[in-house]
Order: sequence, then C-alpha cells, then structure tokens
Amino acid sequence: MRKARVAASSVKFFALLLSIVFASSAQAAVVILYHHVSSSTPKSTSISPAHFEAQMDYLARNDFKVVPLLELTETLRKGEPLPDKTVAITFDDSYASVYESAFPRLKKRGWPFTFFVNTDSIGTSKLFVSWDQLREMAKHGVTIANHTTQHNHLPRRKKDESIVQWRVRIASEINQAQTKIEQEIGTAPMIMAYPFGEYDIDVQQIAKKLGYIAFGQQSGALYEKVDLQSVPRFPFGGSFTELDDFIMKVNTKPLPTRSVSFYRDKNTEQKNLIVKAGDKPWLVLELDNAALLKKINCFATGQGAITVEVIDNKLWAQAKQPLNPGRTRYNCTAYAGEKGRFYWYTQQWLVTDRKGEWTYGD
Ligand SMILES: [Zn+2]
Repeated sequence: MRKARVAASSVKFFALLLSIVFASSAQAAVVILYHHVSSSTPKSTSISPAHFEAQMDYLARNDFKVVPLLELTETLRKGEPLPDKTVAITFDDSYASVYESAFPRLKKRGWPFTFFVNTDSIGTSKLFVSWDQLREMAKHGVTIANHTTQHNHLPRRKKDESIVQWRVRIASEINQAQTKIEQEIGTAPMIMAYPFGEYDIDVQQIAKKLGYIAFGQQSGALYEKVDLQSVPRFPFGGSFTELDDFIMKVNTKPLPTRSVSFYRDKNTEQKNLIVKAGDKPWLVLELDNAALLKKINCFATGQGAITVEVIDNKLWAQAKQPLNPGRTRYNCTAYAGEKGRFYWYTQQWLVTDRKGEWTYGD
C-alpha cells in the first residue's frame, strides 16, 4: 500500500516535471515587419532610424539570432519545431528608405533580411527602390520576395467580376510579380506577403495552390502547426516604435492552437474572415494545453478587453461592440510562465460596410 502511494506520488512528480519542461521548451521564432525606416515618410508606416537602431541593439545585446526568413520557412515546411530567441526581419512595399537607411545598418551587423516588393512600383519615383538597388542588396544576401504587382486588396472582388475572373486576376498579380523578380534578380523564393496583410479563405487557397508560404500582418510568433498561408508577423511603425513594446513582442511565444474556427453566432459556423459592419463574430480556439484556457485574455482593435468564455474545453472570444468597417483584430494572450513572456494569437477580420461594400482605404 505504502509502496503504491510512493509510486503514485513519483508519477505525479514526474508528470509535474514533464509539464515544467514542456512549458519552458515552447519554442518561439518571431518575424518582424517594417515599411519605411525614415523620419520624413508617413508616420503610420514609418519607424525613425534611431528607434530602428535601438530595436536592433536590443536583439544584439540579448543574444537573439537573426536568421534568413527562408530558414524559418524551411523549418515550417518540414513541420519541425522552431528555434527559440530567433528573429527574421522583413520589409514590405519597395520603399527607397529600406535601401538608404535599413540596408546599410543591417549590412554592418551582417544580418540577413527579406524585402517583399510590389513590382509595379519599383523605379517609378524617388519613394521607391530601383532594380539596380535591389540587385545590389541581393548580392549582399538580402532575399527579394513577392508582394504582388499592384498592391491591391486581394480579397476584394471588383464590381461585375465573377469569382472565376477574380481568381484568375489574383493568381496573375502574384505570378507576374514572381516572374519579374526572377527576371531581374535571377531567383525568387516561393514566399509572398499579402498587401495590407489582407487575406481570406479564398485568397489563402489561391496562394496554397500556387505553392507559396504567405505572410500576413497579424501579430504572433511562429508555430510549427501554423497555417502556411497566414503566417503571422509583428508590424512595427506608427504608434508601435517604442522599445518596451518591441521587447514584449520579440519575446512572445505562439499560443499552441489545435484548431481555429469562426462563428456568426453560437450556433452558426462561418467559414470566411470577411464580416459586415455591425457583426460581432466569435473566434473559437481549441488549445493543445487546456490548462491555458482560463488564463487567456482577449482584446479587440479599439475596444480593449472583449468577452471570453470557456465552453467544452474551447475558448470563445467575441467583441463587445459591433465591428466597424476596416481591418479589425482580436488579440488573445496568456502569461507564459517566464518573466516577460506571453503566449499570443491574433485573428484578423476584414469588415465591409453593412451592405457588403468595401468602404475603407489603405
Ligand atoms: Zn504592402
């Protein structure tokens, strides 16, 4: 009897030990995103060179490994665990300040980065890089990758455009950019970034069919089971340039989700991420570790904390206020048990007006 009790308690102890090891070994690679690195470009998409340097200094001083994005996408393709304290740096939109300001700074540190370019803009004005500048960057190890030709909102169908016509157009905006990069640079990896970070289920399917790993602009760390056509990145710029915010984000861990689904109301599942103004969609997360469910807090863009319920071992999160037209995000986080580290999952919704029309701009 006594022996059995000892055995039972050592099993318990072993399980506890395992859970501690498991919890602290959750791996976290993070992809960070910038647009302009400049003090004279539009504030909402810019970070000043001084703030940028401070962020890079933090990574260097704290032994973060800065790796090429393609190294992380290879790991994701194989479904292997990601390395901890690892960051890949990306830039979107073909801006000249990336060549003028970010490139020399990162070259000096010997750090790789990826530049997602919308090919139709290249060389068109002083705001954008030239193909010669991109070739020079590529020679120094910078990865030049696909951000489509025209930087359109991919999920939006034009008036009078059938779904088939829309699919053909979107595929061609992606394919043409890829061909152009191959011609000008000599090589183009099978990765892309959605313009404005906007995607829906149909856009994801097109990217998947064409063979791309595709990045959004929703926050979160990489996860070996992440959907390869909605890979998260942490955007920095505008009101997100301070070091404290950067430190918190590069130290996040992925919320280990087993399944993600969406509901119009508690009884009606919806398959897509496009909702109408006035809607309050539910985000439903099933987690690998159900013990985390009670620790999660969720927030919506412009609303602060939102409703969170645990039903049948799943987390149900819903905005308190009806959503307004635009991009809206639900951010769900939980303390990860290590100082300053949080599990993080973000879901983005694209919100039309009440009639289903797209009314918001960039
Ligand atoms: Zn862009």
